[in-house]
Amino acid sequence: MNSGFCVHCGAALGPGHSYCPRCGGARWQPPEQEQRPRPPSPLRPPAHGPGEPGAHDRRLRLLPYLFAAGAVFWLIQLAQFAAVLAAPAGRDVLRQELISAGIKTDLDTVLVVESVIVLGLEIGAAALHAVAYYGLRRLRAWGWVAAVIAAAAWSIVIVGIPILIFLFRRPTREACGIG
Ligand SMILES: [Zn+2]
Repeated sequence: MNSGFCVHCGAALGPGHSYCPRCGGARWQPPEQEQRPRPPSPLRPPAHGPGEPGAHDRRLRLLPYLFAAGAVFWLIQLAQFAAVLAAPAGRDVLRQELISAGIKTDLDTVLVVESVIVLGLEIGAAALHAVAYYGLRRLRAWGWVAAVIAAAAWSIVIVGIPILIFLFRRPTREACGIG
């Protein structure tokens, strides 16, 4: 410790003075000497100010995994549908479903179109959720956009599926002159 001056009153301080002899104020010390490095505590994550980048990281911590779960869900759906399509018995089940839905002509064409649409939607949904997962983890704008599209699609599915079922019911179709 060198000679210096009191930061409170300006009095001269000798090398051995930890406190000012005139006003009793504590001697100013550089932060490096003042603070001992603290070991990181698991109970106290590093503090961020409200405006600093990283302040929202903790709030986003679980959100990406929601979309990772969505990607896994769609990959499972994709694998199941591909397994049905790959097996002749599975294709027969799909044909029976089309017949019971009232489709009588061009059964195989309808089956191919339906399969392409379903496979495309499932691949797209899995990819969208994967993009949302990686993008949200890296706090990227494209991740947020993908997450919003995926969340919007989910809300459409949840609201739209009962309406679609109603539209595809035989009485509704016959009332509209279809099938
Ligand atoms: Zn002083």
